[in-house]
Amino acid sequence: MTAVVTGGAGFVPSHLVDKLLANGLRVIALDNFVTGNERNVAHLQDNPHFQLIEHDVSLPFDVDGPVHYVFHMASPASPIDYVQIPIETLKAGSYATHNALDLALRKNATFLVASTSEVYGDPEIHPQQESYWGNVNSIGVRSCYDEAKRYAEAATMAYHRAHGLNTKIVRIFNTYGPRMRLDDGRVVPAFIGQALRGEPMTMFGDGSQTRSFCYVSDLVEGIWRLANSDFHEPVNCGNPHEMTIMQFAEAIARHFEIELQLDQRPLPPDDPKLRRPDITRAKQILQWEPVVSFDEGIKQTIEYFRDFVNQ
Ligand code: NAD
Ligand code: UDP
Repeated sequence: MTAVVTGGAGFVPSHLVDKLLANGLRVIALDNFVTGNERNVAHLQDNPHFQLIEHDVSLPFDVDGPVHYVFHMASPASPIDYVQIPIETLKAGSYATHNALDLALRKNATFLVASTSEVYGDPEIHPQQESYWGNVNSIGVRSCYDEAKRYAEAATMAYHRAHGLNTKIVRIFNTYGPRMRLDDGRVVPAFIGQALRGEPMTMFGDGSQTRSFCYVSDLVEGIWRLANSDFHEPVNCGNPHEMTIMQFAEAIARHFEIELQLDQRPLPPDDPKLRRPDITRAKQILQWEPVVSFDEGIKQTIEYFRDFVNQ
């Protein structure tokens, strides 16, 4: 069986590629390296079942031979990335989603799109269930990402309804782990990088906003189960263990056995104040829930960044 993974050299997608190969699939990854890096799949360069193609998937593409799964993972994902390249981000959710859907249609493949908790915007219900329609500022700085992902979900459901395509939508909540970019601006690499360099942690706002962090191996297990389910509506995948960003900073300081030092900055516009997935649906439909504890996941991630910084 063959899987196509768009954005395959990125953080989450490269772990998905590893899982697919481990499960015996052949994998074709497409990436233009706008936010990802070939380094993330360098360990696969001699694997005869893996192929990496440099391509911007917002432009049409095709691959030779049969394809059984198309995983559309390509998109800038960090707020500092998508605010810098908003138009590429809009295209990754729109044109690229159509290109990936069309490939799945031509090949009669199962299609899965990486959506996001950002479709809920700054949520008015907590925790977030899939039935919540969200609170997104359609013209705010985050809208290039949030609205593109909402469009990607709409396009996916339209192909399912109009063509009977076997589609899946995973709404990914904050995921972390090895292969994130140290400088991608997301809070996990930001605080760990700052701790490693002996710098104060850049705290946006008063740190009372919450997030719920999921370790990457848990997420890719959820994605694989969803791809093989017969469910077509969105499914939240994330870890319901919620904490404030201040508690997260304290936890990182504890891991490094350092005193917490903060560099206080303003909260960016439209930064969601609360975020925690309701994973009842994933539990029922996929028999899935995260198994890696926060302490274990953070330990693995720190080790990766430590090695990386020391290279
Ligand atoms: P990432 O930036 O590491 O990975 C995205 C990959 O897509 C990169 O390799 C990038 O170069 C590639 N890409 C982007 N635009 C492309 C294009 N037009 N053509 C080809 N390749 C392109 O980010 P990630 O955190 O691994 O995110 C992967 C997916 O999961 C994204 O779709 C993201 O929106 C989604 N997601 C991630 C999180 C998270 O917490 N990590 C949360 C919600 C959703
Ligand atoms: N954040 C922070 N300092 C940083 C980076 C992020 O305080 O250096 C905060 C950010 O304002 C948000 C939370 O941490 O409230 C998570 O941010 P991230 O960019 O990781 O992901 P988001 O969930 O906002 O997409």
